[in-house]
Amino acid sequence: MQPSLTDLGAVRRPEYTGENRCLPCTVVNVAIAILLAGAVGVVTAVPIGAAALAVCLAAIYLRGYLVPGTPELTERYLPNSVLRLFGKEPIATRSLEAAGTDDPWDRLAAGGVVDRSADGTLSLTDRFRAELRREIDRRESTPGADDVESLADATEAVERGPRAYSIDGNRLLRWESDAALLADAAAASVLRATVEDWPTLERDERLALLERIRLLLERCPACGGPVDRNDERIDPCCQPPHIAVWTVCLDCDAVLADVTAPESDAGAWAELLEAGADEPLEAGAADGLEYEPTD
Ligand SMILES: [Zn+2]
Repeated sequence: MQPSLTDLGAVRRPEYTGENRCLPCTVVNVAIAILLAGAVGVVTAVPIGAAALAVCLAAIYLRGYLVPGTPELTERYLPNSVLRLFGKEPIATRSLEAAGTDDPWDRLAAGGVVDRSADGTLSLTDRFRAELRREIDRRESTPGADDVESLADATEAVERGPRAYSIDGNRLLRWESDAALLADAAAASVLRATVEDWPTLERDERLALLERIRLLLERCPACGGPVDRNDERIDPCCQPPHIAVWTVCLDCDAVLADVTAPESDAGAWAELLEAGADEPLEAGAADGLEYEPTD
């Protein structure tokens, strides 16, 4: 039976081909294919070996690799010096503990997520921003219960309403927008892959860190639009004053993060309050990125 284009489409693994193709994996697999095909050719006949090589190369072309699990194998066994030869900067496995404090911003800085400029302004590191973008682009469906279980380290998440999930039957988690849930699901995936002690964190620690990352997003995870950060002092009658910090996509109006804290805790948010209260976040311009989605 001739394989149809749809069959090829089903075999194709976009996460390992095209611009995602990994050069070290491809080189290792082509070498294995040549050895295998050579052995087949010696044992049987040269044309059969040549045919085997063609099949192997087609598999590598379509799937990105021949040997199942190659991306994990090269990640684990190819020394960093070899990966660097191929222009691959190995993912440094960071640790939040390395911060030596409980301050969430310091921990995110130790984890390679957040940069603090000389004047104390907080922003996402270029590396984390790029990995987050890649993770968001890779996702084909909107986040669901599986993502919530994974990001909140829950045994069971059950959808109770739009972007609302009950967690292990004892807690309700709710996100401000689809874009906010997408940001958390993607950020948690990146953190799991790059931060050594992420899996050991308590649920509340995880959620607090994810929320802070959302406050620093410069582009909307859903539409790529520019993000505006606002803050306000709320002084209700008969209650201690609070501060509220929130971010909104200027294109699709999605609320990405919305934090309210007692004014007595304002110190923990001071760096955000000072940074661009009235203007859209400038970090995109600062690192040469345009706000318009590039693709
Ligand atoms: Zn948006």
